Amino acid sequence: MQKGEQLYEGKAKKVFLTDDPDALIVSYKDDATAFNGQKKGTITGKGVINNRMSNYLFQIIEREGVPTHYVQEISDRETVVRKVEIVPLEVIIRNVAAGSFSKRLGISEGTELAEPTIEFSYKNDELEDPLINSYFAKALKLATQDELETIKKYAFMVNEILKVEFLKAGLRLIDFKIEFGRFHGKIILADEISPDTCRLWDAKTGDKLDKDRFRRDLGNVEEAYIEVAKRLGIKVEEEKE
Ligand code: ADP
Ligand code: UDP
Repeated sequence: MQKGEQLYEGKAKKVFLTDDPDALIVSYKDDATAFNGQKKGTITGKGVINNRMSNYLFQIIEREGVPTHYVQEISDRETVVRKVEIVPLEVIIRNVAAGSFSKRLGISEGTELAEPTIEFSYKNDELEDPLINSYFAKALKLATQDELETIKKYAFMVNEILKVEFLKAGLRLIDFKIEFGRFHGKIILADEISPDTCRLWDAKTGDKLDKDRFRRDLGNVEEAYIEVAKRLGIKVEEEKE
């Protein structure tokens, strides 16, 4: 596969065209941002960990029946994925109250929810990803009714799969964000699943092992990402050029 011109550079990844019109190469960076880009930094080794971890989890998710964009890992930071038209929604699933949910609803962080919740944000940096609901999504033609049904079904399936996987690694899945795209008319899981996009707490101690360490200046940020990767059995050293 031939890497072509850069299509896009985001906050955490670069995206390249390839000689296959149905495929892209994503390249994971060590750059970290929070609060819609207001806080910027670097988490050394994050790109490698997120690439490997995302690929590891996407393969499990695919086996469990949710179609994904994953095709092939080609280096420590780069992966071939199916080129989708991203549905401009950030789909957030929560098992335990934290972050913006706790703030908005006045519920203390760590409160177990009676059942998992789903919410949608409109993926739009200028508007700071405003919270919307499925009626807004349909009215704004971000997705159809059928697509939203599929997205909800897949999102809850992903939650069940990830909860089990993380718990095996001694981690509690508090909440996470995923994105979907259209590939030849079908909805598939795209983007990434990593400590950048999930809240993961140590199942015994409750220690935060995710991007909140960066957002909240808790220290040991790199160490937390490495710890999560190790617990999942993922190799973390960067390959030599
Ligand atoms: P952001 O755009 O939020 O800064 P990233 O730095 O992670 O995020 O950039 C990756 C971009 O690529 C995101 O906009 C994401 O929606 C998009 N993307 C992820 N997977 C695919 C895919 N399979 N096909 C096309 N675009 C994708
Ligand atoms: N999240 C994300 N990207 C975003 C917003 C949220 O990956 O642009 C993830 C975040 O890491 C957390 C979950 O989605 O795992 C819920 O985030 P929340 O709404 O609580 O927002 P935050 O507290 O990060 O503002």
